[in-house]
Amino acid sequence: MDRVYNFSAGPSQLPIEVLQQAQKDMLNFGGTGTSVMEMSHRSQAFQDIIDETEASLRKLMNIPDSYAVLFLQGGPSLQFSMIPMNLADRGDTVAYAVTGHFAQYAIDEASRWCNAVKVSSSKETGFDCIPKITEDDVPDNAKYVHITGNNTVYGTMYHKIPQIGKTPLVADWSSAILGTKIDVEKYDLVYAGAQKNMGIAGVTFVIMKKELLKREISDTIPTMLNYKILFEKGSMYNTPPCWSIYISGLVFKWVEAQGGVDEMVRRNTEKSGMLYDFIDNSKLFSANVRKSDRSIMNVPFTLPDSKQDEEFIAFAERKGLINLKGHKAKGGCRASLYNGMSLEGVKELVKTMKEFEKNHV
Ligand SMILES: *Cc1c(COP(=O)(O)O)cnc(C)c1O
Repeated sequence: MDRVYNFSAGPSQLPIEVLQQAQKDMLNFGGTGTSVMEMSHRSQAFQDIIDETEASLRKLMNIPDSYAVLFLQGGPSLQFSMIPMNLADRGDTVAYAVTGHFAQYAIDEASRWCNAVKVSSSKETGFDCIPKITEDDVPDNAKYVHITGNNTVYGTMYHKIPQIGKTPLVADWSSAILGTKIDVEKYDLVYAGAQKNMGIAGVTFVIMKKELLKREISDTIPTMLNYKILFEKGSMYNTPPCWSIYISGLVFKWVEAQGGVDEMVRRNTEKSGMLYDFIDNSKLFSANVRKSDRSIMNVPFTLPDSKQDEEFIAFAERKGLINLKGHKAKGGCRASLYNGMSLEGVKELVKTMKEFEKNHV
């Protein structure tokens, strides 16, 4: 079978060049006689891989020296716990914008450790928008404000950074990092799992102000959850996810070769624009996210009823367009258009939607 167009929200489609390079290196990486999977993480060869991967990311995102880059495990889901444990003491007040599925998980986990308060929520309207947050919404004693930059399930994203004054800003950019412009210096901590736009599952990137590593934290925090120790050990307190880190390195080189993040933004704007345009003019398909808050990465859409959603998903699948089912929390359909998805893939999707529409209205 030929390769399909995979619209999965994550793990997601990788650029073919990345897979081909991994295939080439599979049995014998760089003349070492071993694959990266079999290599000691204490070897020079692996140290070079992790150093180059970090350097590429720093270049792509303009990360200043005053920020640490950590390669961690446990997914963004573990960051939901690590962030309050490292940036606040037990019982401290921390603030969350609740704009979707993962934002809800984030505040729920923070509530186990802190007094986590909502600064905004779009729950009542089905998470169809990004409510504005102002400095006045943030409690004076909040240790940080947490936002979810791109809401993977509901298809909304922040197009502007909230102006919240002096309180540190923390953001989960898992599903749009390297696909949209992120001004790192506007944040105190940015994190993202790799399996959407940066590679494969297994590694999570944390980009944080080194200043934050100076905080004294409770010695009840497990070593593996302590940013300071993980940083001091070069993200190798224990065995890191070597293969996942190596794949991210390939993805970063690929992004750079394509023209960097600016080019990714241009492509993602074009891809998502083409799809939204079609949907907005369709008699069958609709998208219910507030236009100004639409994500350029994840595009949820629906047909008039759930039976038709299913019919369309099956129809598309027969044409080699897979994983168009929406997240179970929202239902309907969803097309994720990460960096690995080509313009051709989105053209095929629109063509398939048109064809389905012609037979159904
Ligand atoms: C996918 C995703 C997560 C969860 O990732 P895991 O690897 O399953 O922990 C968290 N936040 C956002 C925004 C995501 O898109």
